[in-house]
Amino acid sequence: MNIEVNELHTPEVTCANCQACCCSLEVMIISDTGVPERHIHVDRYGSETMLRLDDGRCSALDRETLMCTIYENRPWVCREFEMASYECINERNEKMGNAQTN
Ligand code: SF4
Ligand code: SF4
Repeated sequence: MNIEVNELHTPEVTCANCQACCCSLEVMIISDTGVPERHIHVDRYGSETMLRLDDGRCSALDRETLMCTIYENRPWVCREFEMASYECINERNEKMGNAQTN
């Protein structure tokens, strides 16, 4: 008996097919990576986070290209956020529905 093996299509998860879903999360600034002050929100306790605009997204995100405009100076948290990790997929599912590739 021949058993037909159908290859399951696993949608690729990359930043290139994402709508910068992780860039509306709260990003704590816990080390000095040179984030420009205009992008930093300081709360009354002195804690620093990336400033988010009215649309809920980080102010350093280019709304047209969905690229980080301060990539070389992005906070440590952004550097550590792993593409295709559980958290990444979670954000994508939440913000783009179940479509993981688009
Ligand atoms: S949510 Fe994941 S795929 Fe989308 S921009 Fe962030 S790291 Fe990249
Ligand atoms: S600093 Fe850049 S990578 Fe980090 S949340 Fe803002 S736009 Fe996204």
